[in-house]
Amino acid sequence: MDAYIGIGHGLKPDGVFDPGATSNGLEEHDLAVSVVDAYADAMRAAGVRVEDESHSGSGHDPNFIGSARRANELRVKYADEVHFNAGGGTGVEVLVHPRSSAANKKACRGIAAGIAEVLGLPLRRDRGLFLATGFGFLTGTNMPSAIIEVAFVDTAADRRAIRRKDALEDVGVAIARARLEFLGVKADVAPATSSDGPASFRSVPIAAGGPTADRRRVHRWADSKRCADVFHDIIDAGWEQAGDIGIDAAVFVAQAAKETGFGRFGGVIDATFHNSCGLKTAAGGENDDPDAHMRFPDWERGTRAHCAHLALYAGAISTAEARRLGDPRAFASIQGVAPTVPELGGKWAPDPSYGRSIARDLLRPLRRF
Ligand SMILES: [Zn+2]
Repeated sequence: MDAYIGIGHGLKPDGVFDPGATSNGLEEHDLAVSVVDAYADAMRAAGVRVEDESHSGSGHDPNFIGSARRANELRVKYADEVHFNAGGGTGVEVLVHPRSSAANKKACRGIAAGIAEVLGLPLRRDRGLFLATGFGFLTGTNMPSAIIEVAFVDTAADRRAIRRKDALEDVGVAIARARLEFLGVKADVAPATSSDGPASFRSVPIAAGGPTADRRRVHRWADSKRCADVFHDIIDAGWEQAGDIGIDAAVFVAQAAKETGFGRFGGVIDATFHNSCGLKTAAGGENDDPDAHMRFPDWERGTRAHCAHLALYAGAISTAEARRLGDPRAFASIQGVAPTVPELGGKWAPDPSYGRSIARDLLRPLRRF
């Protein structure tokens, strides 16, 4: 193995989920997941063998000592852990041990500069380098290592930069560029925002032969988000139906989480509607009118219609099939318009970032839980 990439925070050995720093709806761990997805993808595309933290198994100590031990076991050439900062301040810093090699320090300055450029944020400390003692990940790893603090979740300017379209993916690619240079690997890494960038960055297909997450872990992930009890019923009602209809059950759950606020509802409809995706009636109507929304007799039928509607968007089923499955709005005009989750933006909902937010904020962290 060439490289180990850790994700800051996450599920602890005691089973409790640590989101890291949180501010204004952003969670450090979940942001780091998106960065690491793009970072690891770019490294693998360049032929580098990478273990990222999802492969360590759920429940593996995600931080400091656990990750350091894993990196040592793998005898990698370097190890990084991706975090986001908090506590006031702005910009990018990369923590390295003072005794780390000159080559690693140079690479870390490169990482910091790359992130700063992508996000349009300043470099902190000594041109982005923070010589730090007392961090378990840095003292515990016996190879070049770094803790990358991408930006501050509790500073408005940094949050704006983080939220920009594809920003987290671009950060991942920027880190990869610096680390490829460190490894002496010559490779052309396409930016995530280019149309010919690695397909996995944005193409998160809705149709699938099977779920991309483990059902039991999905329940635990929902608990980590303090879901309402009813959200577990929604998962159970829709999980197998999603597979039968031909869509990724993890996508169904991620969308249901967004649409129902993890079963807490609080919008115009409540749980008695058994409506996991805000589906409207055939006649439709205003968003703030509860009567414009479908009232299903139970979660079985509500989630079936949800999965059918999603499958229709993905082009996985016909309008006739969607209608047969109970979709009240199986219109030909939506069939196949969104084969991937990000493409739901501006189509399923007016918000152009609707699908991207499901993929980035919900689906990716769910898959790694
Ligand atoms: Zn952290």
